[in-house]
Amino acid sequence: MSHFKAPPKKSLGQHFLTDHGYIDKIVMAVNPKPGDRLVEIGPGQGAITFPLLRKHGELTAIEFDRDLITPLMEASEGVGRLTIIHKDVLSVDFGKLAGEDKLRLVGNLPYNLSSPILFHAIEHAGAIRDMVFMLQKEVVDRMAAGPGSKVYGRLSVMLQAYCQVDALFVVPPGAFRPPPKVDSAVARLVPRDPASIGIHDPRRFGDVVRAAFGQRRKTLRNALSEVCSSEQIEAAGVRPDARAEQVAVVDFIRLANVVVGS
Ligand code: SAM
Repeated sequence: MSHFKAPPKKSLGQHFLTDHGYIDKIVMAVNPKPGDRLVEIGPGQGAITFPLLRKHGELTAIEFDRDLITPLMEASEGVGRLTIIHKDVLSVDFGKLAGEDKLRLVGNLPYNLSSPILFHAIEHAGAIRDMVFMLQKEVVDRMAAGPGSKVYGRLSVMLQAYCQVDALFVVPPGAFRPPPKVDSAVARLVPRDPASIGIHDPRRFGDVVRAAFGQRRKTLRNALSEVCSSEQIEAAGVRPDARAEQVAVVDFIRLANVVVGS
């Protein structure tokens, strides 16, 4: 008999994965190894949680919905050691949670919060070994897009500056209950070694990228007029008449570093 009685909550983005083929593909993408510190965001009714727990023996899950906590704990009996953090994931300090061991994050994310969760994760990138996340396909397309693509934007630059981003596979609405309106996709993000990234001031880097894409139709000269001069843009080796959507991630990093150094 199922432990889970409460109906799915739309406000918490609850679309539960029910297709075992896709559940297996996610577990294979995570491929946990002994000693890994697995943390799941939004376990829901445990679609990914229990297969991972069976394979790995222990897992920490962060779930905001109080109605799911007791059923998850009950259902985990005899399966493995499940620790639940009953909190909004955005209030969880991944640095503290990690301690000595970097985290491997996994989650079929609540789609209404997917961008805030991604930004929260990159703020703690030093505490994370990798992430396997399911999100709306449209968001995964933006995360992995390169310069020149219509969907290349702030999310692409911010994530790719800090992580290697790979889109893995698409998941159709029929794999969930209730089905979402759109396709989903699974992506892997692997944080880069901070020393190799070379961003001198992360806050300033974020400001430059936000300003550049805030007015993506404008040239950088105009879009960044409040942030830096044309001479600084040129000093970074970037054309002031380029638009943000044409500028590569490494060029944004160089540009932000010139602004910081001035
Ligand atoms: N992992 C389950 C699955 O694949 O079937 C559930 C995925 S469902 C798309 C998203 C889950 O995230 C839900 O269980 C929801 O309650 C939880 N959630 C929503 N907002 C949250 C938040 N701010 N912090 C932590 N969990 C949250």
